[in-house]
Amino acid sequence: MKKEEIRNNIVRVRERIRQAALAAGRDPGEIKLMLAAKYQPLENLLAAVEAGETLFGHNLIPQLETAEIGLREAAESLSDPTALRHRTAVIGHVQSNKLSAAMEYADRIDTVDNFKTARRINHRRALLNEKDAADAVYPILLQVNSAHADTQFGCAPKDLPEMAKRISEELPFVKIEGLMTIGANTADREAVIRSFEITRALGAQLRELPGLSEAKELSMGMTGDLELAVEHGSTMVRIGTAVFGPRPGAPK
Ligand SMILES: *Cc1c(COP(=O)(O)O)cnc(C)c1O
Repeated sequence: MKKEEIRNNIVRVRERIRQAALAAGRDPGEIKLMLAAKYQPLENLLAAVEAGETLFGHNLIPQLETAEIGLREAAESLSDPTALRHRTAVIGHVQSNKLSAAMEYADRIDTVDNFKTARRINHRRALLNEKDAADAVYPILLQVNSAHADTQFGCAPKDLPEMAKRISEELPFVKIEGLMTIGANTADREAVIRSFEITRALGAQLRELPGLSEAKELSMGMTGDLELAVEHGSTMVRIGTAVFGPRPGAPK
C-alpha cells in the first residue's frame, strides 16, 4: 500500500473515531488509536509514524522484534529521531518462552489472562530491577474473553475480579492499567454490544479494588466494530485493515 493511502486511511479512521465519540457524547480525545501491525512490512509502519501515529500493537513476537529493530534503525538514520517516538504493545497471546522477548521489545502486554503469566512478568521485572538497581513496574492489560468464545484467549469474565485482585496484591512489579477484549466476532450487533458491556462493567469492578482506581484503559474495537466500541466505553481501538488494507501474507 502506498504511503499516501495509509495517510488518508488514518485521517478517515480518526474521523470515524471522532464521529463515534461525538455521537456518544464523549470527548474524542479520550480515545486512542492503536495500529494493529501484524504482517505489515516496515515501510507501512514507517508511513504511519510519519503521519504522526505513535501507538502500535503486535500479535506475533517475532514480528514485534523485527518491526521494533527496524523502527529503531530508521530512527537512527534520521536527523530527527524524535520523529519515531512510539509505543508498542503486545495484543496477541504470548507463550511463556516468548515472554522475555515480548517485554524487551514491547512497552506493555495487553493480553495477560492468567495469574501465572502475570507472575512470570513480575519475576522477570524483579530480576531486571536487581540488575539495574531500579524499582520499575511493567504495565499490562488483562484480556477478557467477553464473548465466551472457544477461539479466543482471555480470562472468563466471572474469574476476572479475583485474578486482578491477586495480581495487584501479590505482584509488586506488574501494573494493571485496564482491560482488553476482542469481543463477539459476529454480525449480530446485540452480541457485540453485550461483550463490550461485559468488559466495561468489569472495568468498573476492577477500579473498585484497592490500588486499581487508575486502571482505566479499555482496549476494544477493531475495523468492523470501532463505532460500537466507542459507544460502549472504549478508550483505545485497535485498527489494522482500515489503515493498512488486507494483510499481505497472513494465514486465512
Ligand atoms: C488483527 C487484530 C486487530 C485489528 O483488526 P482489523 O479488523 O484488521 O482492524 C485488533 N486486535 C487484535 C487482537 C488483532 O489481532
